[in-house]
Amino acid sequence: MLAQKVAPARCAAVVKANAYGIGVEIAAPALWRAGARTFFVALLDEATTLRQVLPEAEIGVLNGLMPGTEADYVGHRLVPVLNDLGQVQRWSDEASRRAERLPAYIHLDTGMNRLGLGLDEQERLADAPSVLDGLDMRAWISHLACAEDRSHPMTMGQRDSLVGIARRLPMAPLSLANSAGIFHHDGLHFDLARPGCALYGVNPTPGEPNPARQVVRLDARILQVRRVDTAMTVGYGADHTLTKPGKIATIAVGYADGLLRATGGKGDVRIAGRPAPVVGRLSMDLMTLDVTNIPDEHLAPGQMATVIGPHRTVDDIARDANTIGYEVLTSLGARFDRRYIGTGA
Ligand SMILES: *Cc1c(COP(=O)(O)O)cnc(C)c1O
Repeated sequence: MLAQKVAPARCAAVVKANAYGIGVEIAAPALWRAGARTFFVALLDEATTLRQVLPEAEIGVLNGLMPGTEADYVGHRLVPVLNDLGQVQRWSDEASRRAERLPAYIHLDTGMNRLGLGLDEQERLADAPSVLDGLDMRAWISHLACAEDRSHPMTMGQRDSLVGIARRLPMAPLSLANSAGIFHHDGLHFDLARPGCALYGVNPTPGEPNPARQVVRLDARILQVRRVDTAMTVGYGADHTLTKPGKIATIAVGYADGLLRATGGKGDVRIAGRPAPVVGRLSMDLMTLDVTNIPDEHLAPGQMATVIGPHRTVDDIARDANTIGYEVLTSLGARFDRRYIGTGA
């Protein structure tokens, strides 16, 4: 869907942080089968892992070329995203030493003030571009700060800055849009889009219907169910007090599994399709639910409760925890039995 939306621009896939917590060894081949040929990770380590999974992909490393890692990049056929003139020079020197052209992305900062060549370095490069002679420039890239806010004036300003400086630099493809940028404005697509979160179902257009389908469903087992009466409390801090007789179910998922503790007492879990409100604080390994309205036949220990699903998305949980879907996904823990469905794997 993303590739169609940005065509004729190419669509890369950002798979840093273990494919946003999904599991890169399954996600990356699925994305390859969906047509992605260019991938971005943050770290050299992530890139060497990905190289084993995708022998033919182009792999860009966003965090840049740390001194002493040049041979690793060449050995694994990785493409550094060069973030300052020192990195540009070192990669250029490596190319000279090997008497071959080496592939590179160069990140031009247009307002994030995080990574990439700053304005002064961009000027210096435009004045003396011969350092690029030994490089095979794959793209000039920049990154948007506010793309999920449709009314934010910064986005088009960043676009104009990128176009302005690129005009004074040797010709190469341009890459600006992340997931939100893809939907913000077609004029941000340029030659190569770099979606991450939308590949994994996080809504790239907050406040509007999600154009992406949620990827993750999370189920947890019912461990125990108990009858409770008025004025009893549930869990740490005795935070939740019963106002009438009812039933509490305890399920096997907690903040050690990445279910953010800030979501305690918020939202609901589904058991046999029926809502069970989350009550009390989240524990490390446990969550408590009000199951008063759910028939006992659905509450046997071992039965599954759906914590993340169509009824409660990653974005819903993020909102309740005052964070973003990215953090919910990348927090999902290592204790789950992960089953990959419909990936062809
Ligand atoms: C993480 C990242 C992306 C992907 O961003 P999403 O918002 O997840 O689509 C693209 N470009 C860069 C430089 C990034 O760091």
